Amino acid sequence: MPQLQRLAVTAPQICDRQIALTREQQHYLNRVLRLQAGDRFIAMDGRGHWWLAVLEARETGLFASIAEEIAVDRELPVEVTLMAALPKGNGFDEVVRQATELGVASIVPVTSDRTLLKPSEQKVERWRRIAAEAAEQSERQFVPTILEPISFDVAVKDCNQKYRFICVARGENRHLWDCLADLAPPQSPLIRGEQDGGELSIVIAIGPEGGWTEGEVKRAIEFDFEAVSLGSRILRAVTAPIVALSLVGAALEKC
Ligand code: SAH
Repeated sequence: MPQLQRLAVTAPQICDRQIALTREQQHYLNRVLRLQAGDRFIAMDGRGHWWLAVLEARETGLFASIAEEIAVDRELPVEVTLMAALPKGNGFDEVVRQATELGVASIVPVTSDRTLLKPSEQKVERWRRIAAEAAEQSERQFVPTILEPISFDVAVKDCNQKYRFICVARGENRHLWDCLADLAPPQSPLIRGEQDGGELSIVIAIGPEGGWTEGEVKRAIEFDFEAVSLGSRILRAVTAPIVALSLVGAALEKC
């Protein structure tokens, strides 16, 4: 496939293999990207579908018709949730962007004993926009879900992922890499959930700048989290998610 421009659309815009483009999308395709009737682009719905679309000029404006669905496979073979305590300032913007590039399926921002500030609704909207942009940029089929911030204790109790890890900066814990290697030996049927009814899901919890309190780690362990290490150095709260997700990709993704 030659390098075609990509456009994020929503499912309700598509009907009978036609895409009803919004005014902004028409402007973007025509005025910004300089595409004209007959030109092709890729439409993505953020839910796993990509289509090759062709621009058409009609009296009412520009439309696009779907020529064919494109098969893409850019997703991790496991569903990974990042449960991350909110760092101070705008640090979470980069966490959302980079975690999306690394294939995260959903992000649960959590408040913890050492980060009590609940972010504003605007911040959550901003993170969702960042996730959509990053998914588009990294050509992902899915836009990760950014959940509403909740307290760590509630997140831990409500957690339904099968494999649960809490990253703890100090102490004698197994390395996340070793845990992931156990989870998916080469060619394991666990990959893609073939044996599991599609339930191969992982959650990784990362603490705030001040770290988790002992009580938080204890409570997470009560809910079947395993305390893990990301190595001998103390990483910043914004670096640790990137390291953890890179390890998941390296351990479980087969090229
Ligand atoms: N201020 C704390 C460290 C916090 S680092 C201290 O001095 O102990 C922020 C978060 O990143 C931690 O809560 C943990 O989840 C994660 N993290 C950082 N380095 C890590 C490491 N080497 N192993 C596991 N988790 C780590």
